[in-house]
Amino acid sequence: MAARLIDGKALAQGIRDRIAKDVAELHARTGIRPGLAAILVGDDPASKLYVKNKQKACDASGIYVDEHKLSATTTQAELLALIEKVNKDPKVHGILVQLPLPKQIDSKVILDAVSPLKDADGFHPYNMGRLVEGMAMFTPCTPKGVIKMIESTGVAIEGKRAVVVGRSNIVGKPTALLLMHRNATVTVCHSKTRDLPAVCREAEILVVAIGKAKFVTGDMVREGAVVVDVGVNRLEDGTFVGDVDFGPASQRAAWISPVPGGVGPMTIAMLLDNTLESAKRFAGVAS
Ligand code: NDP
Repeated sequence: MAARLIDGKALAQGIRDRIAKDVAELHARTGIRPGLAAILVGDDPASKLYVKNKQKACDASGIYVDEHKLSATTTQAELLALIEKVNKDPKVHGILVQLPLPKQIDSKVILDAVSPLKDADGFHPYNMGRLVEGMAMFTPCTPKGVIKMIESTGVAIEGKRAVVVGRSNIVGKPTALLLMHRNATVTVCHSKTRDLPAVCREAEILVVAIGKAKFVTGDMVREGAVVVDVGVNRLEDGTFVGDVDFGPASQRAAWISPVPGGVGPMTIAMLLDNTLESAKRFAGVAS
């Protein structure tokens, strides 16, 4: 039986419509318009496209964008000075530093300099620590979107065997924590995991974030699983595929997210959501 689709695009649109209403209401009540500082350094085409999409989504939701496009030769000191400026700007409630940064800049230094109160991506160590405690102020956007996608299926997370493939700080690790906080029994896999197919086959919930085209084959998917594919891989012909081999996997899964149109749109919606929530905190308005 073919799996049902977890339509991230439609889900994200619904969330963005709700955000647009909330933004208008917050502005009418308090005069505060949520603001996002979007910082792009260099000319990486993929990064440019990501920032443009995030900007368009902000515009459509009534969120103010403070745009900063810096040259590829920007120094770390120059970028730090800009972060300091937006940290203090009262019109800005969220700060997005698009990764990767050019090699003369240490990303860790930059992400640590972002005010934890405006850390819309949730990458600051303070927010990571709060996430570990289960008391996140900002939850990283992609993992937050992944959880909403799983919840949208109506399949309960509690008690399930969940497997997360990938352990990056921005996707795999926080996703595993969020699943654990929702009482799943979580296994995290990485490049040194022994017999990965067998581990994947145990998963009632399978989240894959490794960046390898069609790496998870149909036989690695348990019958009836919920599969969320975070990977975005560009093929030689210019098309994009996920980390999961969608066709065969969807013959076994009960639910599966597509690429494109899955996690990507949800990540953007969650960035808007984090910026709105931050603006509400600054305004002293309950979420
Ligand atoms: P990273 O490169 O930071 O991490 C990749 C992880 O995958 C690592 O933990 C690595 O293991 C693991 N891995 C790599 N190869 C294998 C393998 N053969 N078997 C098992 N594990 C493996 O990637 P990200 O987490 O940043 O991104 C992952 C994917 O998700 C990418 O395709 C990226 O483009 C996409 N992405 C999509 C987003 C969206 O909004 N749709 C947002 C963010 C990312 P180890 O730690 O041992 O090296």
